[in-house]
Amino acid sequence: MSNQDTEFYTGLIRAYFDSANDAIFVLCNELKFLMCNRLMEEWIGFSEDTLTCHNQRRPITELLGDTVSVEKFCAAIEQVLDGHPQRIECFIHPHGAQPRWLEISMTRVDVEAGDMVIAVARDTTRQREQLAKIRYQSTHDALTGLPNRVMLQNLLGSFATTIGPLAALAVDIPRFRDVNEALGYRMADEILEAVARRIEHTIEGDEGATTGHLTGDRFAIIASGEAAGNIDRIAAAIHEELSRPMQHNGLELTLGSSIGIAQFPSQVEHCTNLLQAAETALHHAKQNAAAGIENFYPELYGEGSERLSLVNDLRDAVDHGRIHVHLQPIIPLQENDGIRLEALARWERDGVDVPPDEFIALAELSGHILSVTQLVMEQAVAQSAQLIRDGFVSGIAINLSPHCLMDRSFAERVGVLIGKCRVPASSLTFEITEGVAMSERMHQYTVRELRALGVHLSIDDFGTGHSSMCKLRHLPVAELKIDKSFVRDMLTDEGNATIVEASINLAHSLNLKVVAEGIEDDATLERLAQMGCDYAQGFAISQPLPLQELLEWLKPGAAHWLQRAINQ
Ligand code: C2E
Ligand code: CA
Ligand code: CA
Repeated sequence: MSNQDTEFYTGLIRAYFDSANDAIFVLCNELKFLMCNRLMEEWIGFSEDTLTCHNQRRPITELLGDTVSVEKFCAAIEQVLDGHPQRIECFIHPHGAQPRWLEISMTRVDVEAGDMVIAVARDTTRQREQLAKIRYQSTHDALTGLPNRVMLQNLLGSFATTIGPLAALAVDIPRFRDVNEALGYRMADEILEAVARRIEHTIEGDEGATTGHLTGDRFAIIASGEAAGNIDRIAAAIHEELSRPMQHNGLELTLGSSIGIAQFPSQVEHCTNLLQAAETALHHAKQNAAAGIENFYPELYGEGSERLSLVNDLRDAVDHGRIHVHLQPIIPLQENDGIRLEALARWERDGVDVPPDEFIALAELSGHILSVTQLVMEQAVAQSAQLIRDGFVSGIAINLSPHCLMDRSFAERVGVLIGKCRVPASSLTFEITEGVAMSERMHQYTVRELRALGVHLSIDDFGTGHSSMCKLRHLPVAELKIDKSFVRDMLTDEGNATIVEASINLAHSLNLKVVAEGIEDDATLERLAQMGCDYAQGFAISQPLPLQELLEWLKPGAAHWLQRAINQ
């Protein structure tokens, strides 16, 4: 290569080096700079000339500006020089430059002149901030800013090795639904905020008491130390405070409260059960309105203990990712626009499958439904992503519980998942039950955000709730799923056949597609196709299957059903 060529290529490499989106630098084995690119100059606060100038060279460890990171860096460098490439995350705050978090990958290179370390650093500050934001959102209630159930449960977990007494209160505002209906959700939200502040104010002087917000009109207090010993007094004080009239926008309201108390170790064996036990006691307090406050008595609430152990096992299953999904195909009946899948949650407890209807309801009650949904959603999208990208299936449907719509970070998490698994948003459908879709409580915010992402919404179990034509028309949904209770015996029950046909016509007149679920035989499938139903799902086509079995089914099965749709 001529000198001119060498110069040309060196210039080219230099330009490439300097335009990289990562900081790149090379250190000698004394950790002094041999070279670095533009970004590194900016992040470390010195020019390359200064860093590499013979009599001014200083080891990088003197420039990082954070002792913890220097220790981490030195430990990693030792490994690198031993021939083991390392990737570390550390915080730097160099003199005269901005503080930031870096992910640094380092490798040793042996050259004649000695060992060198080549490092590539990426700025992870924003990513960390976003994670911190998501973490905050997932541990705090968006409305009141109070710790949510996840955080309170973590707090209880942190007391696991404590011997001292602990206690939990579950506080509920009776008939808050009436307030919602009478005053509208905006004002009801303001009232909940006022309730939160009142509870906080009441326990202000009690060392060791933490207020949290479980759901809508349900609050909780976790008490340790002195506060745990005074839990009866605290419960009475909150009860009294919430029975004082409240002035709001010129209105005077008296709310009242029901309170459940649970204490460790006198009433509850494991402190992590405190919250559930307090809610069981609350359940009894609500039935016994005269008292308003109830303690948890394990011997009295026998069925409560069985439920507690089920809730504990469920939490354990969620924590260890032992909730799985099965996938059930939904086939097109009219035109060949591909096979879709519905993800259905599965939980095996001590070798026995717990019916989803049962554990989903329990997850909703105990506050684990968000984690269950997250697990289901992650598995469903991960398992179907490749099938969607290769065109074997057109999309995946996921069941949503109303709690997910109340969770302000839900849509954001869906967005993250779509990006991570590289599937188009339009391949995702979220099924919400008719009751939820029709209620005012359907959280406008999450629905709007989900629609903005481009995912579809479908109304599940159509026919079992009370639909209003007027509301149906204004809902941002693309599809109705006719409940299996009408489909299953529609050939023998004319009444059900009429309901199914009317639902199909209603949906079409509103420009919605229709899915019929629970099809158990070919004759029903045939009849539905004649009625103009757009999609079909049921044991006659396939049971919900684990991924491996679904892949087997997809080859011959898919071809058969798609051919059938083409022949229509
Ligand atoms: P769903 O959303 O209505 O789901 C359809 C149910 O019908 C599934 O029951 C499915 O196995 C069953 N099915 C499908 N084809 C037939 C058929 O031909 N005949 C009969 N008899 N049944 C059929 P599964 O899996 O037991 O789920 C029950 C319910 O549990 C679901 O009803 C849904 O409401 C809930 N669920 C399941 N997974 C989840 C989840 O991940 N999140 C939420 N929120 N709910 C879920
Ligand atoms: Ca469903
Ligand atoms: Ca259904």
